[in-house]
Amino acid sequence: TTTTAIERAEHLKAALKAQPQRLLIGGAWVEAVSGRTFETINPATGEVLAHIAHGATADVDLAVRAARKALSDPAWSRMSAVDRSRVLLRLADLVERDAENLAVLECLDNGKPATLTRAVEVEGTIRTFRYFAGWPTKFGGETLPVSPRSGAQILNYTTREPVGVAGLIVPWNYPLSMAAWKVAPALAAGCTVILKPAEQTPLTALRLGELALEAGVPPGVFNIITGFGDAGAALVEHDGVDKVAFTGSTAVGKAIVRASSGNLKKVSLELGGKSPQIVFPDADVKVAAASIAQGIFFNQGQTCTAGSRLYVHKSRADELLDAIAGAAARLKIGDGLQPDVDFGPLISQEQWDRVNHYVEVGSAEGATLAAGGQRPANLANGFFFEPTIFVNAAPTMRIVREEIFGPVLAALTWSDQDELVAQANDSEYGLSAGIWTNDIKAAHRTAAAIKAGTVWVNCFNMIDPASPFGGFRQSGWGREHGRQAMELYSETKSVWVNLS
Ligand code: NAD
Repeated sequence: TTTTAIERAEHLKAALKAQPQRLLIGGAWVEAVSGRTFETINPATGEVLAHIAHGATADVDLAVRAARKALSDPAWSRMSAVDRSRVLLRLADLVERDAENLAVLECLDNGKPATLTRAVEVEGTIRTFRYFAGWPTKFGGETLPVSPRSGAQILNYTTREPVGVAGLIVPWNYPLSMAAWKVAPALAAGCTVILKPAEQTPLTALRLGELALEAGVPPGVFNIITGFGDAGAALVEHDGVDKVAFTGSTAVGKAIVRASSGNLKKVSLELGGKSPQIVFPDADVKVAAASIAQGIFFNQGQTCTAGSRLYVHKSRADELLDAIAGAAARLKIGDGLQPDVDFGPLISQEQWDRVNHYVEVGSAEGATLAAGGQRPANLANGFFFEPTIFVNAAPTMRIVREEIFGPVLAALTWSDQDELVAQANDSEYGLSAGIWTNDIKAAHRTAAAIKAGTVWVNCFNMIDPASPFGGFRQSGWGREHGRQAMELYSETKSVWVNLS
């Protein structure tokens, strides 16, 4: 317990150098068929952390074959519900055992602060596996009161069956939890899976695969293909894959819908967002400011639900914006291995350029840059970008309409409630929204009017595996978490038995 994150990081880096990072196919760790590898780097320093097997179509073929075989292997298909539950609970325990290492590994690979990662993401992963471990023993069908015209006596019941082989494609912003959100319900439902982590952040996914084997997940049930978008695309196109679950950009989501049509595999999508934060005149401004700052700056703004559009009533705007700027200024920016750092680098140079470009766009459009907008003066290396606030933004501006996926808040003011709701809903996205008020009627009226999969009232970014998560509009298809996630990974069968 006295080992610091920095000491832990040294051990982990040495281990990564000593061991090739391979694909997991059919329970074995293997090189890519091509023999190729790619590098994953530490975005805080630019240092190469590991060489990762570069999976592509041929490897996807092998993984699909292994997953199909495991699907009908009695070791999995006939495993009792209580045993499947036990495997998931064991996996949760193993993630908990290795929690500190996983947090530091994620910090190295993604840049996110290790302490926050341990508290939020690794903890969330443990809870996700524990929650879904409860479902195998509870997820069943129904007996239904059908009324056949013939008067025949019918027993009608439904069963739930695993949808089959599931391809799980995840992004780099929350690598471990995005994997857990998909792997846990898929295994709980009895599927076999092929996980494709993002090319920027493969390390914790590989560790999760090791822990799954240790937990007793049978060979071939959990496969991992590391690689780039072409490996994801090969999974999406594969006729041996029955379902694809994807989290990532809306553009790739649309490509997946098109590419999946060959065998009409089931598709669920968690895509982008441009979520509004709505502040009413009676709001508790101090509490709102702290949460709104968190809502946009947590994880360096690289969060699908980031509250990136702020609509504050004009009577409270100055006070609120001062408080948000104060919260931004207090964030300690730096290498996430330092225990007191709460804001790390962006994931990549590409992402840095994208955020920087939007700052230029915002200024050119006439918004006022009130805070941040550049690389922090004391951090010459790594992809660091300051928490950034634009005020006097207008509804037509690109910084108000487009997902930046970085630490950039665009603030607008309002005075008319109907106009406010229209503006908040004026988006191609619909992932989430925050509402700040103590007026119970305003809160519920606005919650009802907002087009978003999640609405938070006097809080933001609360997530729990029991509560469905996903988007309206172009923010996605389907809901992860809760019973809805079990439905994503299963098919319903209706059985009619004539008893007459
Ligand atoms: P991305 O869409 O480029 O990549 C995501 C994953 O898809 C990666 O594993 C990538 O290798 C793979 N991929 C790329 N092209 C593919 C293709 N043609 N077919 C199949 N797979 C392919 O997104 P990103 O840059 O990694 O992540 C950032 C984006 O993800 C943001 O726009 C953000 O809003 C979104 N996101 C959404 C949620 C959510 O829950 N709604 C969560 C996290 C991120």
